[in-house]
Amino acid sequence: DLRALNQRLQREIAERERMQQSLEVAEHSLAQSSKLAALGEMSAAVSHELNQPLAAMKTYLAGARLLLQRKRSEEALSSFQRIDDLIGRMGAITRQLKSYARKGEEAFEPLDMREAVSEALAMMEPQLKSRRVAINRTMPAAPVLVLCDRLRLEQVFINLFRNAIDATKDSDEPQIELILSAGENAIMSVHDNGHGIADLESLFEPFYTTKQPGDGVGLGLAISSGIINDFGGRLTAWNAPDGGAVFEVQLPILKSGQEAAE
Ligand code: ADP
Repeated sequence: DLRALNQRLQREIAERERMQQSLEVAEHSLAQSSKLAALGEMSAAVSHELNQPLAAMKTYLAGARLLLQRKRSEEALSSFQRIDDLIGRMGAITRQLKSYARKGEEAFEPLDMREAVSEALAMMEPQLKSRRVAINRTMPAAPVLVLCDRLRLEQVFINLFRNAIDATKDSDEPQIELILSAGENAIMSVHDNGHGIADLESLFEPFYTTKQPGDGVGLGLAISSGIINDFGGRLTAWNAPDGGAVFEVQLPILKSGQEAAE
């Protein structure tokens, strides 16, 4: 009896060891495939963030060439300055991507949201020139201070503006209304008169896009809402009753006491 029991125990131990091994193999391959998925997502994110300044640089470069041919070198020089700024921006973006690996090193600083909006609009200038879109801006007279990383907040605005411009492609009188208000929270709303949001459920999911391959990868809003969450705020969206989409960025207002403590 004892021997039989012993043999059964041995078999059970062997069986358990086999299961343990196959579990380890499964865990290993799961870790490998999630690394690959993360790598894929990361590559898409990198090209997404760099394509915007690259496209702007291409436009400025073409402009500078034309100006030089027409011997308007002063104006060409200012195009070169813009290109220089964009290169600086791309450097900042890659630095930032590197810092993802060491989270927590973000440059959080008190900043005026009105300035972030202006800077983001300046980045969109080439696209805005090639399309006729009316932009109405309503900003408070006083600074609207929030605590966040300037570059990443501008990235969010650029994404929202670019989406709004894309959405109004077929509108008769394309129009984007930007309203910044400061109460309990700083609220920046972007309202376009485009085709509206087709699927509110999937809107913020990574890789959800209704654009043609090459025009969009569907990461902009996923990244943007992650950024705003990191800043302690939220990004929401809905279809306006009078048509078009509304995107709203809410961020906690930085009180002057807090600002002094910074
Ligand atoms: P991408 O722009 O690369 O598609 P986003 O994450 O920025 O990625 O946007 C995802 C999708 O959300 C878009 O493809 C579009 O279908 C929808 N969307 C975003 N902004 C708007 C908008 N202003 N109006 C209508 N639909 C929008």
